[in-house]
Amino acid sequence: MRIATDFEGARIDVLSAESPSNVRLAVPADPKHAKFRMWFAFAVEDAADEALSVAIENAGSCTWPRAWTDYQVCASHDGQTWTRVPTVYADGVLRFTDTPRGPRSLYAYYAPYSNAAIDGLIARAEAAGARARSLVETPGGHHVSLVEIGNLDPGAPALWIVAQQHPGEHMAGHWVDGFVERLLSDDDDARKLRSEACVALVPRMNPDGVALGAHRTNAAGIDLNRQWLAPEGAAPEVGAVRAAMLARGCAFFLDVHGDETLPYVFVQGAEGVPMRTPWMVGLEAAFCEAFRAASPDFQTEYGYPKDPPGQGNLRIASNWAADTFDALSYTLEMPFIDNANAPDPELGWSTERSRALGAAMVTTLARMLPKLGGKRT
Ligand SMILES: [Zn+2]
Repeated sequence: MRIATDFEGARIDVLSAESPSNVRLAVPADPKHAKFRMWFAFAVEDAADEALSVAIENAGSCTWPRAWTDYQVCASHDGQTWTRVPTVYADGVLRFTDTPRGPRSLYAYYAPYSNAAIDGLIARAEAAGARARSLVETPGGHHVSLVEIGNLDPGAPALWIVAQQHPGEHMAGHWVDGFVERLLSDDDDARKLRSEACVALVPRMNPDGVALGAHRTNAAGIDLNRQWLAPEGAAPEVGAVRAAMLARGCAFFLDVHGDETLPYVFVQGAEGVPMRTPWMVGLEAAFCEAFRAASPDFQTEYGYPKDPPGQGNLRIASNWAADTFDALSYTLEMPFIDNANAPDPELGWSTERSRALGAAMVTTLARMLPKLGGKRT
């Protein structure tokens, strides 16, 4: 047998792998930031039909060790469809078992959504009339792209959605896939949204991080979601998107993420921004009601603590956008583990549920549109 890391985003340290029944691995830190250590992805080759037993021995030293409780490792035997495999976390070690069904099986923290898949998604949007352009070429030779879908009149409200600032949060890639598929469809809400608004989508903020197999940072080791107030030169991804937002204006902002520990879908609002206005507060209540109606997975009971008034961190994208544009603005979090309100013992929080949540955002935004495009009071 062999552990292979010959694909985009593959990342694991092999301690020993002489026998499928006793594979010892460790999760490496992000390439340029020792504090972040969560993402892993690797292939097991030449172990078909053998009983595979893997121990990730430094799981307890990862950034959020609580993330491993109730977590199950993601696996794919065909490189396309993903399932979960029996996993136990104890004494700081994450152990899983599986039986590879072919010459090569993949294992990862979450089912990856590749940079090539993002390119395909952009091409599909362009073929359906969207306008796409590269905002910046990254140090790794990738592009941070803006895809404008819908009404391209400069007077139409711009609804900004950015995803995967944190590269390991691949549910955000699947979310974007589901969102774009629904937005380009003949669905009534999609047609309304396309006709009355411009959806300004940045489907992948951090393609370098994805390619490198980083969990949280870009090629320079920077957490992009702490860069929005005054981006450094080493975070050109944020600098370019921020400049495009300032040039176009912003009537709504959503930043799509995954959360390692909380088993719920939730949003983090802009409660703490200095410029918080009654306009924002009124829109938040309407948004949460519309999102709950559109998706059975969204809830508002569990989430992060709300920032005290005036103490929001403006280096975080959604806070910066709310404060800068007086706009409805949220960070959206999906679980790595599962939705504890409606668990799926087989698949956990699956790529399909990520996609369905993305599709539900089309309905949510169509409901919100009369308010978002309305006159501030
Ligand atoms: Zn994140």
